[in-house]
Amino acid sequence: MAKVGVFICQCGKNIGSVVDVNKVVEKVKTLPGVVHAETLQYNCSDLGQNAIKDAIKQHNLDRVVVAACTPRMHEATFQKSIANAGLNPYMFEMVNVREQCSWVHPDNELATRKAISLVKMGVSKVMKLVPLEPLKFPVEKRVLVIGGGIAGMQASLDCANAGYHVTIVEKSPSIGGKMALLEKTFPTLDCSA
Ligand code: SF4
Repeated sequence: MAKVGVFICQCGKNIGSVVDVNKVVEKVKTLPGVVHAETLQYNCSDLGQNAIKDAIKQHNLDRVVVAACTPRMHEATFQKSIANAGLNPYMFEMVNVREQCSWVHPDNELATRKAISLVKMGVSKVMKLVPLEPLKFPVEKRVLVIGGGIAGMQASLDCANAGYHVTIVEKSPSIGGKMALLEKTFPTLDCSA
């Protein structure tokens, strides 16, 4: 049976002043598979990350849900933390209750209800996860760029400067795209061709 730990972040007042985090914790504790749920003031702080690592060891958790901000901000932070505690970093799900709840819903009750729903979804998802291992494959350093307009030409130059062999394909007889149709360019009045 899965052993899920759920950590709801208050982000100071960012989440804690709108979402009733204690209510979320109480609801989440009743979900199947959840063996530990708590709210922390700042999940991403050293204190918060250590609390998560301690709980993983103490409750023998095998998967973790963090309800906090956007995964774009701290998913890697928490994956690293749980890996340090001995878990596979992909046995992790991050739920966004800041940008998707407290920052956009002025009604505390509605924001809390939505946060509970999102965390429930996160728990359902994390229950289905399997451990993953990153794989590495050799890649051939060749690039195909389709389109010889300005973007295609610049992309080709950038790739070539990065050491890639570039093939550029253009359907018309000459490269330059729309740019080649202009006489001069603003503000330097350089000849566009
Ligand atoms: S994890 Fe995200 S929501 Fe929580 S304190 Fe850090 S920045 Fe704020």
